[in-house]
Amino acid sequence: MPEETIFSKIVRREIPAEIVYQDELVTAFKDINPRAPLHVLVIPNEPIPTAADVTEAHEALLGRVFRVATQVAAEAGVAERGYRLIVNCREHGGQEVDHLHMHVVGGRPLGRFLPD
Ligand code: 5GP
Repeated sequence: MPEETIFSKIVRREIPAEIVYQDELVTAFKDINPRAPLHVLVIPNEPIPTAADVTEAHEALLGRVFRVATQVAAEAGVAERGYRLIVNCREHGGQEVDHLHMHVVGGRPLGRFLPD
């Protein structure tokens, strides 16, 4: 099993977080340092360290992550104008927490996805 991060404690509700959705596979909670009016993280309950560690065995799980992310956006009312889903991977990708997570960011214009 991969090493645990603080996100596993959030899944088990051992430390506080604003959980907006949870089922047997995934948990969605508000980012502690939101960069937009909507900023939620969707994570698998069982940790995968990074996107680079994804295997065929994770296909259904990551489908759930994607679907919950889009549901969170729809329920927050940002789907019509649009939003961004982000998965940072490892050092150059700017990943800070080694428990794969999808950022759901929206509620304002987000500009180009990377600086030119
Ligand atoms: P990364 O840079 O790894 O893609 O994103 C990690 C995200 O997790 C950051 O946006 C950061 O604000 C958020 N984060 C880090 N620690 C905590 C925490 O303890 N609780 C919550 N809710 N978010 C966290």
